Amino acid sequence: MDSGQFRECAKATIEMLIDYYENVDNRNVLPSVEPGYLMKLLPENAPEEPEDWKTVLKDFYEKVLPGVTHWNSPHFHAYYPTGCSYASIIGNLLSDGLGVIGLTWMASPACTELEVVTMNWFGKLLGLPEEFLNCSDGPGGGVIQGSASEATLVALLAAKDKMVRTLTQTNPDLDHDILKTKFVAYTSNQCNSSVEKAGVLGSMKMRLLKSDPNGKLRGETLKKAFEEDKAQGLIPCYVVANLGTTGICAFDPLHELGPICNEENVWLHVDAAYAASAFICPEYRHLMKGVEHANSFVVNAHKWLLVNFDCSAMWVKDCYDLIYAFDVQRMYLDDLKTTAKIPDYRHWQMPLGRRFRSLKLWTVMKMYGADGLREHIRNQINLALHFAKLVRSDNRFIVEPEPSMGLVCFRLQDGDSNTKKLLENLTEKKELFMVACTYRNRYVIRFVICSRLTTKEHIETSWNLIKGETDRLISPDKINPKSQSISTIDHFESINICEKSK
Ligand code: PLP
Repeated sequence: MDSGQFRECAKATIEMLIDYYENVDNRNVLPSVEPGYLMKLLPENAPEEPEDWKTVLKDFYEKVLPGVTHWNSPHFHAYYPTGCSYASIIGNLLSDGLGVIGLTWMASPACTELEVVTMNWFGKLLGLPEEFLNCSDGPGGGVIQGSASEATLVALLAAKDKMVRTLTQTNPDLDHDILKTKFVAYTSNQCNSSVEKAGVLGSMKMRLLKSDPNGKLRGETLKKAFEEDKAQGLIPCYVVANLGTTGICAFDPLHELGPICNEENVWLHVDAAYAASAFICPEYRHLMKGVEHANSFVVNAHKWLLVNFDCSAMWVKDCYDLIYAFDVQRMYLDDLKTTAKIPDYRHWQMPLGRRFRSLKLWTVMKMYGADGLREHIRNQINLALHFAKLVRSDNRFIVEPEPSMGLVCFRLQDGDSNTKKLLENLTEKKELFMVACTYRNRYVIRFVICSRLTTKEHIETSWNLIKGETDRLISPDKINPKSQSISTIDHFESINICEKSK
């Protein structure tokens, strides 16, 4: 492809995408394809001869697009949002257009420095304590990881290294390898699967502690777990607190967990992948009370903040904890020597190579402005409250627990089997996409405001679909108040995205 063809193809692609977004509303949110559909449609081998860009775009439109789940459809209400905006697409385009890798400062100074600047902007917007920011006097700073999963693993590995260093400082004869087998990590049984996986990947036993009836990990539960383990000669090393759990968006009380971790020199990592974006609105910051006790904090700008995947913003209070753990030198990676406070980001992450991800965070923050981003968050929370109001207006339904951020969980009074059937029937129609989780041993459907394109009218259309399907399933006179206590939750395995209590 030469410059002329790139110009034509790029223009056509942008036009196609604009048309897609303007009309995504008219497509079913779920595709109507069978497993293996695309493998049958495409040739087994890559083409020997170059193909015209028009053929490529035609294939994309006719073969690939029909197999896409439309995450940005106004009727996508599953999981949590994936960020997407024109401003972010422009940032990504610039990043791909430049095609640089920011291994070191010298490998592309702007790549490192724009990340420092945007992570300072973002951290300030969230109201994070200054110690987490690169612009403070201390060793704190922000870095963009590919995913919250990576951030949680990076923090676990750094915690492990730090604990070994701390313990061997007073007792240098201790065997590092034996020590590591005694380390224990803790989180709640409501944690995202990625947190449990960090324990697997980082070879550290991860205890999923019982949350309280509201899905929160309480201080007394953590303290008891520490004591149990210490009595057995084990060493508490790492805690992941959840701000906005994946199932019901519950918030662990950092002000309870933090002091307990600090007292034992245990690393406290905060997984706020979805919900922390709301902290750009000061009225929600009380939910991170106690954040000053944390060692690290992650929020996915690529979830709720209109930045396209991947842009997982992670801050640490002491970057040397990462550097000591991950610094591996090579002559070809020698960087410019400077007294300026410039991070060598390759020591802050798992891969060596790093994309110019800050460009999309920058274009979004500049093109929306802080006010525009706050308006987006508040609008989405208001849409969730509107949906909850509609559900509550129908006495066949219960909204439970209380809506949290952009998430509303609801179920039929008529028992778990019918709630499950309702979700199955709606999913089969493909016009609306939601998933389920459990709350207090009941099967609940999660309705999340995801797309920036969702309006009040879309919410009402979705509600009418839910109501219509419910009418077919149960008639209004069939409600049996006693059935509220019927739970057949044990039979529901496959669609539950909320980790089971252990
Ligand atoms: N933590 C929470 C609370 C989440 O909801 C999710 C994903 O939905 C994750 C972590 C994993 O995020 P990522 O896909 O960026 O690893």
